[in-house]
Order: sequence, then C-alpha cells, then structure tokens
Amino acid sequence: MIEPGHGFPGSYLEARQRWLAAVERHRGRACGVRVDSFRLPHARGPAGEALYLDLATFGDRHAQHVFVITCGTHGIEGYAGSSVLSCWLEANAIDIPAGSKLMLVHAVNPWGFAHGQRVTEENVDLNRNFVDFGAPLPANPGYAALHPSLMLARWDEPAIEAAFQAMDAYRLQHGEKAFSDAFNGGQYEHDDGVFFGGRRPQWSNVTLRGLLREHASQAGRLDLLDLHTGIGPYGEPFFINFDAPGSRARRRAEAVWGSDAFSGRGSTHAAFASYQGLLIDAVASELPQCATSCVVVEFGTHARARMQRAHLALAWLRRQGGSDLVAPAAAEARREYADAFVPRDPAWRRTVLAHGVELCRRGLASLRTS
Ligand SMILES: [Zn+2]
Repeated sequence: MIEPGHGFPGSYLEARQRWLAAVERHRGRACGVRVDSFRLPHARGPAGEALYLDLATFGDRHAQHVFVITCGTHGIEGYAGSSVLSCWLEANAIDIPAGSKLMLVHAVNPWGFAHGQRVTEENVDLNRNFVDFGAPLPANPGYAALHPSLMLARWDEPAIEAAFQAMDAYRLQHGEKAFSDAFNGGQYEHDDGVFFGGRRPQWSNVTLRGLLREHASQAGRLDLLDLHTGIGPYGEPFFINFDAPGSRARRRAEAVWGSDAFSGRGSTHAAFASYQGLLIDAVASELPQCATSCVVVEFGTHARARMQRAHLALAWLRRQGGSDLVAPAAAEARREYADAFVPRDPAWRRTVLAHGVELCRRGLASLRTS
C-alpha cells in the first residue's frame, strides 16, 4: 500500500514495531520510560492484525510541564510522523528536566494508518470529530450543495474534471474562504462524503481525551505538536496555529517554535477554512487549568488541486466496496491517494525526516524554558 524506503515503513505493523523498539532503547537511560497500548475495539488492520494507539511517556509522572507529540491523527499521514519520531528516538538522547514529562502518541487513528486512509473505519475525519456532541452539530450548507458533484460515479478524467468544474463554480460564486469552509471545514451530514466529522465521538477521540486528563490534569503548562502531511511547501514544515495573535497561547507557541513559524509563507491554500472539531481543540477543553499551546505542523506534499483529487479518490474508492469491476481504476486511485500524503520521492522523505527530527529536538528543549 505504502512503498517503503528512505526511512519510511511499508505498513502500520512495521511502523509500530520500529517505534516501540526506538522507545525501548531509552529504557534505563532516560528516566521513567513507560509504554501504554490501547487496542482499537471492533476493527483490525488489512492483514487481520490488532490495532493500537500507543502512548510512550518519559519523565515525571506528576510533571508540571508536559510536551506532547501526536502522529497519525489522519491515519495515512502517520507514516511521516511515525518515521520522524523513530528517527529522533534512534539517534538522540532524551533528557527530561525534573518536573517535566514527554508524551509521544503513536497512531492516534490506527485504523486509518493501517489501511492507508486519512479517515477512521467510519469514514470520519478525526480532525473534525472533536466537536461538542452534546450540542447541535455544526451545519455546512455549502458542503451540502457541493456533495452530489463530489461523489464521482467513475474514476476517470472526465468525471474528475466535472467535479472540479463544480468546485470552481462554487468558488467563483462564493469566494475562496466560503469554498474552503464548504469543502474542508468539516461536515456532519454526509457519511460517505469528504471531511465528514462523524455523528459521535470516535474511539480515538475518547481515548486521547482520557489520556490528556490522566497525564496532564496536574500540569501547569502543556505544549502539543500534532504532525500531519499535505499542506505547505514540498517537504518543508508548515505551522498552523489558531490562537489569536498576542494571546497568551500564541505567545507561548511563538516562544517554543520561533516567532517566524506562523508567517503562513508557502501556504497551498488561498484561504483557510474555519475548521470544526480539531484534535487540538480537545486540549483546552480537557485541561482548563493548564496554560496550553498547540500547533499543527504539516509537511507539504502537492498543490491543493492534487490533494483535492486525492480526497475525491478516497470517497470514490470507499463507495466501490472492493468491486472487481473497477480494479484497474481503483489501483490507480489508490496509488494517487497514497502519493498525495506519503510521496515516494526519496528527496521528500529525507527532508521531512531532517526537519521533523529538528522539530522534536526543539520541542523537547522547550521543557527547559519557563
Ligand atoms: Zn492531516
């Protein structure tokens, strides 16, 4: 499914084994190394394997300062994040200052990771699922208008072109921002559509919230880095932070990652959506007593149109249900999808690993600053 090589694994199992081994090599060297594995119920990997969200913690159990790195929120994007973490752990000492803790979350969405998809087994974009399910779900009438045009009957160029014409017409009529809100802001009505946020909290959502409460309820400060791929300059880190400029959280994020990190330079989006239900939204809501800063770091892959094709490809693939009738087109769509989020290009992989390891180092160093 994913072509292995250049520091990247070819499967979830391979990625997990490497990451677990990389954590293990610190046992006895770093203080307080511990691994907790949480098995995804009711679903397995493509080879029938059990799937886990794994948490590695280093340092003081009751730490005041916590640094968290998550990967695989969008399953398939975890191939990059997992490789970054493994490379970092394999080649660096992990020194945790007293009163601090490092938390590494491997495969937040293990089903998507194992099956090479962004979404969960319920076609839910986990990074639109962290909404308040006790309140009415956000409406997205723009998506409802676009949805029929996005559900392709065939995977071929004329069908894809027709979908893009509908998207262009919407953009022309309503503007870039409204288009982004409609297309990828998140929608809660069409469970076969794109950027579907779900109708209930996903297992990964519940599990991650529990881990934040269990491990950081006593903390005074927590900084979180959520690793993704797909937005920004090719192979380069692109920082996304939604805190208001000048706010305490934003100043903290700038102190950790540098004031230049949030310039937005190199964005592949003409206008960002107002996203609903991001994973990082869970941090402030679960840890109201804690000073937090959360950043998403994307490693850029391709231009936005190519990424949109990938989203359409997955929606089409999921609706085929493995039918043999569409086998050649499905193989092509799968290849295109995988390459959108995990490019095979050795240069892309090398530069992602180099930048990613540097980010991990920088985040860890922030535990030494107050
Ligand atoms: Zn992502």
